Amino acid sequence: MSKENVKEERRRKSYSWANLKRAVRYLAKESPGIFPLALFASAIDAAYPYIGILLSASILTELASPERDMGHLFFLALLLVGLNFLGGRLLNFTWQLLDVLKYGVMKHVERAVAVKAWKMDYAMSADPQLNETKGRISRMGYGSGVLALIGQLEGVFRAIVILGISTVLVTEFFCAKAAGEGGLAGFMNHWSASVLFLALLGFSVFYSIRCSAKIEKNYFKLNEAAEKPINQMMNLMSSSIEEYQNGKDIRMFRAENMIFNRLQEQSRRFLAEAEPGVRYERRKSCMSELFSRLFNMSVYLFVGLKALYGAFGVGSILKYTGMVTQLGAAVTMFSDAIRGFFQNFEYIKLFFDYLDMPNATAEGTLPVTQEIKDNYEFEFRNVTFSYPGTETPSLQDISCRFRKGEKIAIVGRNGSGKTTFIKLLCRLCDPQKGEILLNGVDVRKYQYEEYLEFFSTVFQDYQIFAFGLGENVAAESDYDHEKVKEALENAGFGERLKTMGEGLDTQLFKRFSEDGVELSGGESQKVAIARCLYKDAPYLVLDEPTAALDPLAEADIYQRMNQFARDKGAIYISHRLSSCHFCNRIMVFEEGRIAEQGSHEELLEAGGLYRRLWDAQAQYYA
Ligand code: ADP
Repeated sequence: MSKENVKEERRRKSYSWANLKRAVRYLAKESPGIFPLALFASAIDAAYPYIGILLSASILTELASPERDMGHLFFLALLLVGLNFLGGRLLNFTWQLLDVLKYGVMKHVERAVAVKAWKMDYAMSADPQLNETKGRISRMGYGSGVLALIGQLEGVFRAIVILGISTVLVTEFFCAKAAGEGGLAGFMNHWSASVLFLALLGFSVFYSIRCSAKIEKNYFKLNEAAEKPINQMMNLMSSSIEEYQNGKDIRMFRAENMIFNRLQEQSRRFLAEAEPGVRYERRKSCMSELFSRLFNMSVYLFVGLKALYGAFGVGSILKYTGMVTQLGAAVTMFSDAIRGFFQNFEYIKLFFDYLDMPNATAEGTLPVTQEIKDNYEFEFRNVTFSYPGTETPSLQDISCRFRKGEKIAIVGRNGSGKTTFIKLLCRLCDPQKGEILLNGVDVRKYQYEEYLEFFSTVFQDYQIFAFGLGENVAAESDYDHEKVKEALENAGFGERLKTMGEGLDTQLFKRFSEDGVELSGGESQKVAIARCLYKDAPYLVLDEPTAALDPLAEADIYQRMNQFARDKGAIYISHRLSSCHFCNRIMVFEEGRIAEQGSHEELLEAGGLYRRLWDAQAQYYA
């Protein structure tokens, strides 16, 4: 390994230990009781089988004894049943309590992942690599990531308690001397027998742990490679069967074969990726199991022989063979926990790396004051932007200005960069080159949340949530009912609202409620427009806000919008050029640049792209 590689490996490892400490702190903070309870549960879980082992051994010894005392025997039996019952109940209760705590932490983890996703730079949310990471973290569950530490701690602690109890029993076992001198009895009483026993145990443990570590070394990488096709498969399945809207196209275009073929291809890829790892694991596990069984067998033989040579009574055979079973289980438990522990480093790192991803958008500190809201001017200065993972810029060298009260229309062909332009204006993405200025100050210097408050938007791909109608308009649960109703009226939804039995409380869509109301495309768009009106921000951004509306509704909405946006600034993206008439200025986008700008009349006169678009549309009306 080169010097750099060694350094990198060291850095990676120490970083992982730092993450481990952080994971422990994270768990202790989210659920202070979780570590003590896990230790307590593991301790009683480890001790529980010994109730049966020790008391059964005593009962058997008593039974085999010539001076058997029935009263004592009865007492032992009662004790066995009673302790088993109480221990079982206590164990059950503790595990259940621990499950509740784990569930709570799991919800915290899920929330942290979601909050990060909502807060991260919007442009990054389009990054497939990042989405894959997000998916992996969300699927970690209890088996990997920070929560898995609890299970591993349980495993290690339980194993330690069992090993502790077993040590006492092993010592007792070796102290019991076989009758006779020399020969087999001599060997069994000699210290070398205990050394041999410990050496065999040591070898069995060492081999098992070493195998596990080797398997784990490849496991994460294999998992990583295999997980991707599985996830794609799951996403494909769920999007094709869960979203009922998809059912239309699947039926009409007989798309099921295409989906089925893709699933088969993904399965083949997954099996090919996983095969070498599975083979390797199978081989190593088999050897490890074999050694463990051989060890158990030799101990059974040893215990049996010692009993035969009168070192202890028949009851103790049960005790010492029970000890061996527990010892074997403890060793497996220990190596599993250690294996999981090392494997988990990568998952914990994945989780914290994700949470620590820098969030460039959230760094500004300047407030967006009322003074700015009362009088503002935006400027794009030589702005260039490319989406993550793409080489061709979606916007190139854009320069323009617009201010309060001005109505701007953006037109242009599909893919010319119109939507990207407004995403940049709203700071859903930041440009790689150039600046966007608000009153002469780079918008990145303003507090992000306050800056977002500047805009009321209707995006092309607006989202209506499966919540109440009123909640959708207000984007919060506690809202001003009158204001929401007014916004819905102004968005042309007034008549439809009257037909809804539960008014603003009507649940939309059936995802959470059986009585949920399905909205048509146009109705949904009206709700999105109402949300924009309700927010009543200083600047309006509307990306084809009326694409799904019928012509009468569209004319009505434009009239109301104009009234509403009287002294606000506004940007409209629209393909219906007739609706751009009322704007002060029209910007025509082409291949990520502003090809031309001016008033409707000026652009018609110029005879450029706008003229061609206008003529193409006008011929249908002529
Ligand atoms: P318009 O709104 O004019 O139809 P867009 O601004 O949506 O165009 O898109 C401009 C260009 O950016 C297109 O070529 C499109 O393929 C690309 N683009 C849009 N969104 C993304 C994205 N999330 N990732 C990569 N490329 C994108």
